[in-house]
Amino acid sequence: MMDYGIDIWGDDNFIIKNGKVCVNYEKKPAIIDIVKSLRNDGYRGPLLLRFPHLIQKQIENIYGSFNKARKEFNYKGKFNAVYPLKVNQYPGFVKNLVKLGKDYNYGLEAGSKAELLLAMAYNNENAPITVNGFKDRELINIGFIAAEMGHNITLTIEGLNELEAIIDIVKERFQPKPNIGLRVRLHSAGIGIWAKSGGINSKFGLTSTELIEAVNLLKENKLLEQFTMIHFHLGSQINEIHPLKKALNEAGNIYTELRKMGAKNLKAINLGGGLAVEYSQFKNEKSRNYTLKEYANDVVFILKNVAEQKSDLEPDIFIESGRFIAANHAVLVAPVLELFSQEYTESKLLLKKDNPKLIDELYDLYKSIKASNALEYLHDSIDHLESILTLFDLGYVDLKDRSNAEILTHLIAKKAISLLGDKQADLLAIQDEVQERYLVNFSLFQSMPDFWGLKQGFPIMPLHHLDEKPTRSASIWDITCDSDGEVSYSKDNPLFLHDIDVEKENYFLGFFLIGAYQEVLGMKHNLFIHPTEATISINEKDYKIENIIEAQSILDTLEDLDYDIHEVMDILNERISSSKLVNEKQKKHILGELYLFLNDNGYLKSIGV
Ligand SMILES: *Cc1c(COP(=O)(O)O)cnc(C)c1O
Repeated sequence: MMDYGIDIWGDDNFIIKNGKVCVNYEKKPAIIDIVKSLRNDGYRGPLLLRFPHLIQKQIENIYGSFNKARKEFNYKGKFNAVYPLKVNQYPGFVKNLVKLGKDYNYGLEAGSKAELLLAMAYNNENAPITVNGFKDRELINIGFIAAEMGHNITLTIEGLNELEAIIDIVKERFQPKPNIGLRVRLHSAGIGIWAKSGGINSKFGLTSTELIEAVNLLKENKLLEQFTMIHFHLGSQINEIHPLKKALNEAGNIYTELRKMGAKNLKAINLGGGLAVEYSQFKNEKSRNYTLKEYANDVVFILKNVAEQKSDLEPDIFIESGRFIAANHAVLVAPVLELFSQEYTESKLLLKKDNPKLIDELYDLYKSIKASNALEYLHDSIDHLESILTLFDLGYVDLKDRSNAEILTHLIAKKAISLLGDKQADLLAIQDEVQERYLVNFSLFQSMPDFWGLKQGFPIMPLHHLDEKPTRSASIWDITCDSDGEVSYSKDNPLFLHDIDVEKENYFLGFFLIGAYQEVLGMKHNLFIHPTEATISINEKDYKIENIIEAQSILDTLEDLDYDIHEVMDILNERISSSKLVNEKQKKHILGELYLFLNDNGYLKSIGV
């Protein structure tokens, strides 16, 4: 039976049981049951489910792996981690993360004023805060306020001008000061679609000349004791471990050199993020060539080696992994609205007494197709259809003939698929010709923007019917009016879905590993907004649906675009009131309806069941 690569990307988080995808934790509820319960309460359209136990699992994994490696190598430096807020700033995620990370002293990383203020409000007391990215005087000032509040905060300097600003601001502020980190520009670069943050030409970091200058500036201004950390970040989703090893070696040497220059409080190396997630559903398209265990062992081993060689202290290790922590906690569930070829049924044929010869032949193919000739007949029917379409353009056949040809060709394709059902290779061979378009109630631009922007794939699979063989090779279409809103599949890596009559039965797809970056990068194309979300807490006996946040209403969406919604309402009101086509009672009715539509979200609701 088809498992949609769950063994590759699933990390044991989900299992298939009785034909349904279940959350592999405690009570092991089926996702489809959770969704049905939400839909029974009136929540329609795409639903984003958050699973806090998966956040907990990733936090435990990271701390567990590094602490194990430290023990194994008898490593004396400490291990610290912060979560980079840019990966997902939604409260449904961040508040859970902070709560679950408390015992580990798990901190937060901020890259902007807004994120820093968020960190200052929600970070666990005494847990570290690191601040990266470009900084103006105001942001640095907020960093000082954080230190004055008692936060353990490190401002990572990306350029000498930022250091000069700090030197100025120190004179104006009170006693407590933030720690200072220096972002180093390594000559080792990462690889992969996101690897623009490392390397000698990267957007960030100090060159070796600037590092020397920075240490001198710190010394002159009596701030050297605030300098505690060096930082680098090779880019996100590092798919090979090799560049990281090189970078660690380089950073380790920079660390010991800077300490030799007198930076005695420099105790930590921060390796940024980049720990990769396995997104692939296909064996031949794996996204990374290492495990977390290997990653942690390499980091500890290399840093220990460098310190030994230079007879220096083993540095504390800081990491800022975001994608790895956040990706698996969120699953988007969306109903299939339509299969494009479903309208082609035998009952819709309008055969005449005298049909064009090609139509009669198509009909014969349809009636006499069997397993042994299925491939041949399918190809013949496609040729016939092409010919009919040409004849139509030339005016030799009419619209009824054309419709008959289209129906018959689709019926032949369907028959071929069911006849070839057990011959996977034959099915694969025809999958380009008979691919079915599944229209799904979601926006790809809102919920998987990295697919649109970077062709990053995400695992997609049906949440039920998994004890039946899926026969339709599929491509997935979203409900935006944009031809980019499609996830297509190739002959080599097809997605097979079930042939469901969605007029009679719901069919739900799950989109997995969308918890990192997708939510906040999501675009409001066609004004489809962040979907309704819910947090699912699971225990041995049961599961609880909590913190339901309904997708924004159309009025709120318009307000976000800075429309004056009172003006919008007034205009609509006025136009209905002055309409001469309906009477007063009808006007009242129409106004009531409009009010309901404006206060609901814009996803599709009533197609299908
Ligand atoms: C984006 C970013 C991260 C997080 O990277 P992931 O690949 O999500 O782990 C960490 N540190 C810095 C400086 C970043 O810019």
